[in-house]
Amino acid sequence: MEMNAVEMVEIPGAPPHYESKRAHHHHFLCEVCRKIYTVENCSPDIGRLAPPAFTLRHHTLALYGVCADPACVQNALRNPPPAAPPQ
Ligand SMILES: [Zn+2]
Ligand SMILES: [Zn+2]
Repeated sequence: MEMNAVEMVEIPGAPPHYESKRAHHHHFLCEVCRKIYTVENCSPDIGRLAPPAFTLRHHTLALYGVCADPACVQNALRNPPPAAPPQ
């Protein structure tokens, strides 16, 4: 039963994304074609983002940018994104 479980993944800036439950992974949203890609990588250092003495149990990560599709790459070259606001 669990094998067929479908999970809704909420990615800020993207419509709800449904996928079957699977191993830990992340998502990359292409800002040009709005396609959501699965990213298998994760940083082992991510727990260091938590304050000292906090225990990180789980996390989600949404990556935003331009995918490798040549049409998206071309589009991004023509329309560079505005500079990120200073934090
Ligand atoms: Zn794209
Ligand atoms: Zn992760």
